[in-house]
Amino acid sequence: MVCRINDYIRGVNTKAGQKSLTRKPFQIIKMSFENLDLIEPILRALKTEGYETPTPIQEQAIPIILQRKDLLGCAQTGTGKTAAFAIPIIQILHETHNPAKGRRKIKSLIVTPTRELAIQIGESFAAYGRHAGLKHTVIFGGVGERPQTDALRAGIDILIATPGRLLDLMNQGYIDLRSIELFVLDEADRMLDMGFIHDVKRIIAELPRERQSLFFSATMPADIVKLSQTILNNPSKVEVTPESTTAEKVEQQMYMVNFADKRSLLLHLLRNQEIVSALVFTRTKHGADKVVQHLQKNGHNAMAIHGNKSQNARQKALSDFKAGKIRVLVATDIAARGIDVDDLSHVINFEIPNIPETYVHRIGRTGRAGQSGIALSFCDNTEITFLRDIQRLISQTIPVVEDHPYPLTDFTPMKAPAKVARKPIRREHNGQSVRETAGNRESRPTIRTSSGNSEQRPVRKFWSKRPGADRS
Ligand code: AMP
Repeated sequence: MVCRINDYIRGVNTKAGQKSLTRKPFQIIKMSFENLDLIEPILRALKTEGYETPTPIQEQAIPIILQRKDLLGCAQTGTGKTAAFAIPIIQILHETHNPAKGRRKIKSLIVTPTRELAIQIGESFAAYGRHAGLKHTVIFGGVGERPQTDALRAGIDILIATPGRLLDLMNQGYIDLRSIELFVLDEADRMLDMGFIHDVKRIIAELPRERQSLFFSATMPADIVKLSQTILNNPSKVEVTPESTTAEKVEQQMYMVNFADKRSLLLHLLRNQEIVSALVFTRTKHGADKVVQHLQKNGHNAMAIHGNKSQNARQKALSDFKAGKIRVLVATDIAARGIDVDDLSHVINFEIPNIPETYVHRIGRTGRAGQSGIALSFCDNTEITFLRDIQRLISQTIPVVEDHPYPLTDFTPMKAPAKVARKPIRREHNGQSVRETAGNRESRPTIRTSSGNSEQRPVRKFWSKRPGADRS
């Protein structure tokens, strides 16, 4: 039975599978941080962090930023991009503003889409700048303003912020951007996806024209290029690791399993103690909660992290997971964006994402900065099409594990949404109520609801903010 599935999946991918053998995996090439002309306090901090060689993005971006040029960086998380901008910013500010005179003014602003990313960038500045004598603070929504406004009042050199809370505190007069010398827009594509474009434009309007700007995005569609042109001045361009090749440094395994058996399979796999820490992905928040309940009921230390949880609950789950107090963290994609856990041993795709790039993002949570990692995926009969799309994107055939106790037996084809007879719609026409027909129907998009019914709604021009977005 499993062999049949194997042939089925492989059938469309044989050529792609061969092609992947010729691709080069992500590599850290041998070069030292000393070669990048970094100052001693930074070199010392990097030694403490255990960094030996710069990653490709660091090697390319650091000299450009130190030459005070604008930068357009095409790189995703996991490539070492945070250090690529944080290290030169620390060096520039240390050299130009040390010792600080009077109350510190904000000289560098980093805007990033999610709280998790903001916190991680803050941790990076703290780590690489521990001997540089600079002050930074992180501000984001969903928590009380007081500690943030206190830090701002005391004076800082570097501000890391999500757009909503930044604008809020700017409007309240706590933040003055007139002294900004270095501006970073991080994860620009995600920022647009989350509906932050207008907030970003409002922030940019408040920045001094004379400044150095750095712009990072994992992808560069036309609207991102257009946005970058409004921010950057004659930028140098740096591009690293196309997304589809990231997958090659992670060991991947596919479990073909009935939908109803996925939770049992997860429990079965967790008996293996080699799974030291697992980030489990589900498509929905409800799905994440159900998986966690099942794991907890069976004695596992598991927590969920998604947009419906309070900021404190998310932070607590994340820090307990990082500290090894929780073995399994169950997350939705948007909540997991930017989760950076050193030594994450396993990523488990409880459901196969319908967007192939999401799969690459997910498995990129393990095997970070050149380390190896393992990604296990559960695929039921309704997800085989998604699996094919993923394999096409990564140009790899993901090996199928045939020896497990819950093999796929349900081959029922995916059900088409049930057709529901539409009630005739009556419209006003020349003062009379008439039955709407194909000929007189107004053209409006049809939206299919979860119950399978169709309903017509007015066109929405812009996506509203997604759950998990900063709603400060
Ligand atoms: P980022 O792409 O900024 O999310 O970084 C991904 C991970 O790589 C983080 O855990 C960093 O601590 C780590 N990292 C960044 N630069 C280096 C380096 N040169 N050597 C080793 N690890 C690094």
